[in-house]
Amino acid sequence: MSAVPPHRPQGPITSQFTPREPGYLAGLNAEQREAVMTTEGPLLVLAGAGTGKTRVLTTRIAHILASRKARGAEILAVTFTNKAAREMKHRIGGLVGASVEGMPWLGTFHSIGARLIRRHAELVGLRPDFTILDTDDQIRLIKQLLQAENIDEKRWPARQFASMMDGWKNRGQLPKDISSADAGFFANGKGQKLYADYQARLKTLNAADFGDLLLEGIRLLKENPTVLAEYHQRFRYMLVDEYQDSNTAQYMWLRLLAQSRDGKTSSNICVVGDDDQSIYGWRGAEVDNILRFEKDFPGAKIIKLERNYRSTSNILSAASHLIANNESRLGKTLQTDVGEEGEKLTVTSVWDSEEEARQIGEDIEQYQRQGDNLNDIAILVRASFQMREFEERFITLGLNYRVIGGPRFYERKEIRDALAYMRIVAQPNDDLAFERIVNNPKRGLGDATLQIVHDTARAAGIPMLAAIRELIETEELKPKQRSTFREFVRQIDDWADRLRTIPHHELAEQILDESGYTAMWQNDKSADAPGRLENLKELIRSMEEFENLAGFLEHIALVMDRDSGDAADAVSIMTLHSAKGLEFNTVFLPGWEEGLFPHQRALDESGLAGLEEERRLAYVGITRARKRCKISLAQNRRIHGLWQSAIPSRFLDELPTHVVEVTDTGSSYGGYTYGGRAATRFDARDPFESVYETPGWQRAQRQQQTRKGPGPLTIDGDLVARSSGPSAAYALGERVFHLKFGYGTVTAAEGNKLSIDFEKAGPKKVLDSFVKRG
Ligand code: ATP
Ligand code: MG
Repeated sequence: MSAVPPHRPQGPITSQFTPREPGYLAGLNAEQREAVMTTEGPLLVLAGAGTGKTRVLTTRIAHILASRKARGAEILAVTFTNKAAREMKHRIGGLVGASVEGMPWLGTFHSIGARLIRRHAELVGLRPDFTILDTDDQIRLIKQLLQAENIDEKRWPARQFASMMDGWKNRGQLPKDISSADAGFFANGKGQKLYADYQARLKTLNAADFGDLLLEGIRLLKENPTVLAEYHQRFRYMLVDEYQDSNTAQYMWLRLLAQSRDGKTSSNICVVGDDDQSIYGWRGAEVDNILRFEKDFPGAKIIKLERNYRSTSNILSAASHLIANNESRLGKTLQTDVGEEGEKLTVTSVWDSEEEARQIGEDIEQYQRQGDNLNDIAILVRASFQMREFEERFITLGLNYRVIGGPRFYERKEIRDALAYMRIVAQPNDDLAFERIVNNPKRGLGDATLQIVHDTARAAGIPMLAAIRELIETEELKPKQRSTFREFVRQIDDWADRLRTIPHHELAEQILDESGYTAMWQNDKSADAPGRLENLKELIRSMEEFENLAGFLEHIALVMDRDSGDAADAVSIMTLHSAKGLEFNTVFLPGWEEGLFPHQRALDESGLAGLEEERRLAYVGITRARKRCKISLAQNRRIHGLWQSAIPSRFLDELPTHVVEVTDTGSSYGGYTYGGRAATRFDARDPFESVYETPGWQRAQRQQQTRKGPGPLTIDGDLVARSSGPSAAYALGERVFHLKFGYGTVTAAEGNKLSIDFEKAGPKKVLDSFVKRG
C-alpha cells in the first residue's frame, strides 16, 4: 500500500463485494495485482512494452467498479486513441458485466476535454453546441486576421502561425502568457495580438480548435474554483495510459483535476507508461512528466512490471538490445513470460520497394495458407508514403487490408488535389477536378466569382473550364479575376500541350510546381507538411510505372473503387506512431534504411535527441510483435526520379546476431552486399557498441552512388516500352526495328541516342534501348 494515507474517503463496500477473489484478478502476476489493488493514493506504473500496463488499467477500473469504490461517473480514464477507449469500454463490460452503474469518463484527452468544456461552455465564452474547427477552417480564420492586420501572408504564412499557436496551446499558454519574445518575431511583433484576436474570434464563431479543448478546460478550472471543487469531488479515481506521451497542457489539465491548489490532497491518480516508448516529442510531448510524477504527487507509489506477456524471447531480446543504445532512459529489465524462444527475427534485403511489397505480399499469402488470420498481421511503416506500394500490391493480389490512423494513400488530401490537377489536364470536362483545384492553392477567387462560373456553365450546359473561356472574353467578371482565370486557363492549356512532348510524370512534377501547389506545402510549417510533400513525390514516382497519363488515371479510378476497408479479416497498414499500444502475431517492418528510418528530418532537426526518439520508434515497432518480426530494407530507393543506393539502417547493427536471420533476395549492388556477409558483421559486434562507430553503415555511405534507374523511358513524349537491360551499339546503316515506328536504318549515333530513317515514320531521334536489330 501507499506510504500516504488515502486522500479520499473510500466508498461503501457493499455486500456484492465478497472477500473471495474476483475473477478479473485471475492470471495477474503479483506486481500487476498490486497495481490493481492499490487503489488509494497516487500510483505510477513504469514498465516496458507488453508487460500488461493497459491490462492493469482496465482491470483496475473493473476492480473499482465491482468493489463499489466508485460509480462509473466518478472515474476518469484517459487513453491515447479513441479506438483504445472503445476497446477498454468493451473489456470493462466483459470483466464486470452489464450491471455496472454508468460508464467512466473514458476517452482521449481531447474527447474528455471537449466533454468537460461543453458542460460549462458559458463559463469559457461558448455555447454548449460549439463547433470544433478542423485545420482548414483554422487556416482560413488566421488568413482573415492577417489580412485585417495588413500582414503579408507570403512573408508570414498562416500555417506557420497555426503551428506556433499549436505550440503555445500544447504548453498551456493563453495569449496573456505569451511573452513578446515568444511571439515577437512573427509579423514583427504582432504575434501576441494575433493570438488574442484569434481566440476572441473563435468565441464569436462559437468555435474551439483542437488545442482549446484542453486549454479552455485549464482556464475554466483555474478561473472557477467552484467548478474545480465539483470535479475534485467527482473524480475520485483517475487513470492515464501512455503517460510518457502527455504534453504540458495535458499535464496541467490533469494536475488541476487531480490535486487541490495547496497540493495537500490529491485524487487517487494512477498513470502508466514507458519512457522507452515516448515517440511524440516532436509534437510537444514531455517525457519529463513521467519522471516528475513522484515529485508532483508526494508519497506516490511506484510499481514496476518486468514480465512481458506479449513477445517471444527472441523478439524481446532484439528490442532490449536495440533500446539499450539510447543514453537518456531510465533503464528497465524485461523478461518474457511467453515461454518460448520462437522464430528468429528476419532481416530481408530486397532490390527496391516494389520487390519489398511483392515479398511481403507473398509471405502474407503463405501465412494465410497456413491458417493465420489477416487480422493478426500488421505492416508498420516509418513514413506514410511507404504505404502506397503495399496498397497497390494487395489490391493486385486481392488481399484485404485496412489503413489505420489515416486515410488510404490515394485518399489523402494532397494526393486527391494533385490527381485533380492531372485529371483536368487529361480531361478538361472534369468539373469535380476543376472545383477542387481552381482556388487551391488560393488564387484570390471568392465564392461569388465561382458561383458566376457555375451559373454560366449550367446555363450553357458546358463544363466549367469552358465557361471560363467564355467569361474571360466578356465583362462579367472584374478585370483582376479575369486575368487570374486567363492565367489559369493558359497554364492548363500549356500543360495539356506539354503532355504531348514530355513524359507524364515529369509533367506532373512541373504542374505541381508551376501551379504553386508544391510551394503551398513547402511554406506550410505544420507538422504534417513534410509528410505530404513525401507523399506527392511518391505519387509522381508511381506514375512512372504507367505508359501515359490516361493509363495512370484509369488505374487510380480502379484502385479508389476497391474498398476492402470494412472487411472482417484484413492486414493492418499503419505508421509506427499509430501502432503504439497495439499487438499482432506477425509484424512487418519495412524500409529500414538510413534517411528513412532513422528519418533524416528527425536527425537534422533534433540531432541526438531525434535519433533517440527514432530508436524508441524502432523499439515500439519490434515490441508490437507477438511471434514474428520481419524487418526489410530496399537496396535502392528512387528519390527525385533518381535511384539512390540505400544504406542499411544503423538500427540493424544494433540487433543482436543470435536472434536475427539475414536474407538477401535482391542482387547486390554498388559493392555492398547486405546479406551473407552481414551475419559476420553482426558476429563481430558488441550489441552495445556506439552507433557512431558502426563500420557497416559508414562503409556503405562511402559507397553511396546515384544512378538513373531502370524505369520506363519515353520517345517524343510517349512511352513506348520499358528499358530492358544494357543497350547495344549499332552500326551506321544497320537495319533496325523500333517498337513504335517500325523498321528503319540508323543514320547517326550519339551516346544512347540514334537517328533513324524509318521506312514509314520518316527520320526520328530515338533511344537505343527501344531498338532491336532488324
Ligand atoms: P504496451 O507498452 O505495448 O502498451 P502494455 O504494457 O500496455 O504494452 P498490455 O497490452 O496490457 O501491455 O499487455 C500485453 C499482452 O499481454 C496482452 O495481450 C495482455 O492481454 C497480455 N497479458 C498481460 N498481463 C498478463 C498476464 N498476467 N497473464 C497473461 N497475459 C497477460
Ligand atoms: Mg499499453
